[in-house]
Amino acid sequence: MEEVEQLAELILASSTVVAFTGAGISTESGIPDFRGPEGIWTKFDPEDFTIQRFVSSSAVRTMHWTMLREGRFSSEAEPNPAHYALAELYRLGKLNCAITQNIDNLHQKAGLPDTTVFELHGNMRRAVCLTCQRRFPLPDVLETMVQQKAESPLCPHCHGILKPDAVFFGEALPEDVLLQATRRSKSCDLFIVIGSTLVVYPAASMPSYATQAGAKLAVVNLTPTPLDRLASVLIRDKAGQAIPRVVERVRHRLNNRI
Ligand code: NAD
Repeated sequence: MEEVEQLAELILASSTVVAFTGAGISTESGIPDFRGPEGIWTKFDPEDFTIQRFVSSSAVRTMHWTMLREGRFSSEAEPNPAHYALAELYRLGKLNCAITQNIDNLHQKAGLPDTTVFELHGNMRRAVCLTCQRRFPLPDVLETMVQQKAESPLCPHCHGILKPDAVFFGEALPEDVLLQATRRSKSCDLFIVIGSTLVVYPAASMPSYATQAGAKLAVVNLTPTPLDRLASVLIRDKAGQAIPRVVERVRHRLNNRI
């Protein structure tokens, strides 16, 4: 049986399916990943993405906000067939949730309800004040910046430093999201990794939580991951090609059951 068919069968045989997504699911939406050949680290210094640099250097803050104002990092990106297929899997009653490392909001844009997306690394559609922790929609912040001709924005309430609400290196992950994601990973019976190198922790612990609790593992990724050897199904293909084919088979099989 080919891998796509095998994954469809696994999904049909499972009662609680969790998808775990990384930057690789969004490359076909035009957002580069970090570690691929065209990845972000081939163009930027990872040090500039640490919370310490962001807080201590106004030049680094200006760099971040300039990139956001110029539309780098993708606020205009659209979901691709892999995001839409996962949303369809949810509507078919065969996806419990998506745990994502991505900050691009594309699962929600494709139709997954907010309550089913656990964003381990935050979301770039918001900004957060580092002093009072208030959050603001990113477009509002960018508009105010342009009006005020500011190089980087300050909190309208307390004048604290505003930061994009994505987790920077050196910052803790949002505790409640981490807790929920851990629970879902430990209680699923099928865990599907899509587009992640599985090297960024603690996010990369999720698949191990799942397999240690007895779940089956599937991996859909263009390049090898450290957990491939544990996978019941391994698909070495583009997510935007493979996931829609898997979901199409699931839909077909469900329709034929009725
Ligand atoms: P990564 O960059 O480390 O790895 C991406 C993986 O996806 C690679 O193994 C690559 O081979 C694979 N891949 C690339 N295109 C693919 C495709 N079309 N189909 C299937 N596989 C594909 O990403 P990661 O594991 O998510 O970890 C990196 C960190 O990057 C995360 O913390 C995440 O927050 C952040 N990030 C997010 C975005 C985003 O929000 N879209 C973009 C870049 C980085």
